[in-house]
Amino acid sequence: MKLTMKKTACFLLFLSTCLSAQNSLHNQKNDELLVTNAMVVVGVGTPAEGPYDIHIKDGKIHAISGAKDDAEIRNKEIQQLDATGTYVLPGFINMHAHTMYTRAGIDMAQPYQHYLWLASGITTVRDLGSHTEVTLKEKKQSADGDIIAPRMFVYPMIWGNHSEKELKQKITEFKKQGVDGLKFGSMDKQTFHAASKLAKEYKLPVANHVGVEDMNAWDNIEAGTTTIEHWYGVPDAALNGVQNFPPDMNYSNELHRFRYAGRLWREADLGKLDQVLDGLVEAGVAWDPTLVIYEASRDLQRAVSSPWFKDYLHPGLEKFFQPNADSHGSFFWGWTSSDEVFWKNNYQIWFKALRDFADKGGIITTGEDGGYIYQLYGFGYLRELQLHQEAGFHPLEVLKHATVNSAKVLGQGDTLGQVRIGYTADLVIVKGNPMADLSVLWPRNIKPLTGDKSTGGIEWTIKDGIPYHAPTMLKAVREMVKESRKENQINYLVD
Ligand SMILES: [Zn+2]
Repeated sequence: MKLTMKKTACFLLFLSTCLSAQNSLHNQKNDELLVTNAMVVVGVGTPAEGPYDIHIKDGKIHAISGAKDDAEIRNKEIQQLDATGTYVLPGFINMHAHTMYTRAGIDMAQPYQHYLWLASGITTVRDLGSHTEVTLKEKKQSADGDIIAPRMFVYPMIWGNHSEKELKQKITEFKKQGVDGLKFGSMDKQTFHAASKLAKEYKLPVANHVGVEDMNAWDNIEAGTTTIEHWYGVPDAALNGVQNFPPDMNYSNELHRFRYAGRLWREADLGKLDQVLDGLVEAGVAWDPTLVIYEASRDLQRAVSSPWFKDYLHPGLEKFFQPNADSHGSFFWGWTSSDEVFWKNNYQIWFKALRDFADKGGIITTGEDGGYIYQLYGFGYLRELQLHQEAGFHPLEVLKHATVNSAKVLGQGDTLGQVRIGYTADLVIVKGNPMADLSVLWPRNIKPLTGDKSTGGIEWTIKDGIPYHAPTMLKAVREMVKESRKENQINYLVD
């Protein structure tokens, strides 16, 4: 379709017709696509530039040109997507995702999560533990463009202590299945180092849930872990002695665990902490802090009453989030204002450690850990970006965490995470300027969080050169939620 034809159509017909003409690009595979008139954020931390036209060919960014001097390309028979007034960013990478198919015994079939992720601008997820076989199958379907889903890197989980023989069996089997990496957690030193050694032999990167355990960040430094997830093992490695737990502390009780995690950062020796951060940076260990997954700990009411729950919270998740010792992270049966204050202070020290880590040259990435502790897929990720800003990073740096840094850690720094010629055409097209206000990334129907209601919202997420219309996917999610609520006779609590 030529621009001239399209322009005429738009002038002659009603606006809604033009919009639907644009929406018809949803999930359409074209060999070539021209995104016109876009303000471009490359992803590397440099300011926005443009307006440019982005010429996509065979799923890659083929050319980026000044919108005024590319009449030639605009006159070619290429499908066009008008991005006037928008900002175009590299597709976001969610470094801490869990693909889920049921929650609290309630069926939560795809594409529920896939749509939420894509509609939030997430074109790539690193899956840190799910149903490995099913997720590997979906990874292939996504890569082939057969399903509407983000690109997936599958890191199955090895949890707890195991003998070397058991570890070898597990890792050999995972390697045979074709996984991209491994997630470790809750291990003693022996298991962790044996598992890390095997991962190295098999050339599998490792994401480590760095808990309050026998091992801590010093072991990650020694093993050269690819990423540490969350944070606990960092201050834990900087304690003088052990944490000052009360006599009745029971680590198996999640209320205890999360309560006293809120008092961990303040006990770290700051001199030692500096050494730990130096060690992590020197060993090339990246940090995926998942700031958002603890937000309920510092402000439970905010998390419980998230404005997107009304339309988008699946009843399986709603049930799972209710306080229950059997649901991981649903520990709020005795949460107090004092706990929230400890956590608010906890965050301040954590933020400073993250900034110091980055200043020393450490690589910080972004992940959401959705499906737990009142965090919803995609929405939690966008909130994670705001928390990185709150930690003290400039929005351009936050976007770098979400794109360039995460791509690098995935070993994809040469193909993903930048709006650059030759890179995979993974793009987020947003109606508004995220550098002025990261909340423009929220869907437009989440009114309470958008200051200017005339702007905002991700309009398109492009993955492998295929455009997906975010409002169309969100509408489908609202329908899925409605249907499942009816089927399971669970009405969202605010209704
Ligand atoms: Zn997780």
